[in-house]
Amino acid sequence: MEKKSIQTNNVFALEEEKTLNWSEVQSSFEKSFGKEIYSSWLSNITLLKEYNDYLVLGVPTRFFRDWIVSRYLDKILKQIKSFKLSLIRIEFKILEDNKTSINVNHKTNESNSILEIKDSVLNYNRLNPNLNFDNFIKGSSNEIALSSSKKVCEQTSRFNPLYIYGGVGLGKTHLLNAIGLELKKETNVMFISTERFMYHFIKSIKKNDMVNFKDFFRKSSVFIIDDIQFISGKEGLQEEFFHTFNSLIEKSSQIIVSADRPPAKLERVQERIKSRLSGGLIVDIDRPDLELKIKIIKRKIEDNQNQFGESYNIDDNVINFIANECKTNIRGLIGILNRILTFGRIHKKPLNISDCKNILKDVFSQQKIITVDRIQNTVSNFFNISLNEMLSQRRSRPLARPRQIAMYLAKKMTTRSLPEIGRRFANRDHTTVIHAVKTITKLSQENEEMNKNINQITNLLMKE
Ligand code: ADP
Ligand code: MG
Repeated sequence: MEKKSIQTNNVFALEEEKTLNWSEVQSSFEKSFGKEIYSSWLSNITLLKEYNDYLVLGVPTRFFRDWIVSRYLDKILKQIKSFKLSLIRIEFKILEDNKTSINVNHKTNESNSILEIKDSVLNYNRLNPNLNFDNFIKGSSNEIALSSSKKVCEQTSRFNPLYIYGGVGLGKTHLLNAIGLELKKETNVMFISTERFMYHFIKSIKKNDMVNFKDFFRKSSVFIIDDIQFISGKEGLQEEFFHTFNSLIEKSSQIIVSADRPPAKLERVQERIKSRLSGGLIVDIDRPDLELKIKIIKRKIEDNQNQFGESYNIDDNVINFIANECKTNIRGLIGILNRILTFGRIHKKPLNISDCKNILKDVFSQQKIITVDRIQNTVSNFFNISLNEMLSQRRSRPLARPRQIAMYLAKKMTTRSLPEIGRRFANRDHTTVIHAVKTITKLSQENEEMNKNINQITNLLMKE
């Protein structure tokens, strides 16, 4: 039983983001609300989890939450939004009722200790109104994906499915969302991430309610599913997806799929699914070239000006500099730009290249690329054991602890999913990784020695 609930949590856990500097947000609260309100109320809010478009904040008590929500919520939301433009909603978690440490459980809105607050613009089917065609900027790297997406909206089931793939942060979800918004005007649209699809699937199995599940997903006229690569290795889910897919196609529903790679390269996915996914139109999104990056920066600056009613004094040299330096992806580019704009807003000064350099230095030092391999090597070296021993099945503590620490760091410092991490540790199950993460989290809070070790290893990893 225990094992099952862990599994569900994992499946539903979204990828966490770390772009907010909470102490920066806190000091902006102090400025805008005043010392008094800040120290009595807002200083007690903690940041528990950060996702692309929402946050989970911790508050001490229920009373506390109600007080904050009734008096300050709008302003809080607006304030945080100035640091994180993609923010749509905030959830509060009451820590008093839930003293046990925060776990990976993301099923927050089912617990009555959590109040979900939605921005008025958000409609419930989780389409984000801000990710539309109007603000998707065309460049040579995404031109075909964009025009295919628009064509699907003009005439559905022309290419079925439409399959869009590309690396992270290049605009796949944005495009899928834009298609959803467009088609929703005329027909019923289901827009879902593969993780959420999985979550519903498992929930229906547990509740013995598969009939409803099938119905629910098969009745849509447009079925949009994001990040299908997460279906990897999940046999039961693949079976269900296959049948859902077929019955949707049969009734000429339009299907739109995104993934991080082309269908043929999906790992541990049934051949018949790959072949279905390849049956329509496949388009890719590439990394942005300089021209597109510049266009995006200019547009974002404009958006910021409109939103905050302030004008930014940023000259073309600075814009070129930012575009040249940001080599990762569009999400990274926007993240960095937001930091730079926030800096300018706080310091009320026109930005120059040397400011930008400083800000970027900060960002890049946090963005060191850390791989599971490196973590395994560093940890085994640190504890003076061989890598083989560390990965072996032996359970003696001098091996098991370092192993757990390495798993913990892999979860914290890389973007690998729990199952992926498990696989890298001699094919262990993801529940073993969850256990390791929980154990080490707890130990590092309680045990000085453990905390010190973790810090030292982290420093080693951040060096070089
Ligand atoms: P993916 O799903 O491919 O990982 P997203 O769709 O989440 O990437 O895009 C990451 C961020 O970059 C989002 O904030 C999105 O709005 C923005 N973005 C990506 N491509 C564009 C574009 N062409 N024009 C404007 N914003 C973009
Ligand atoms: Mg995405």
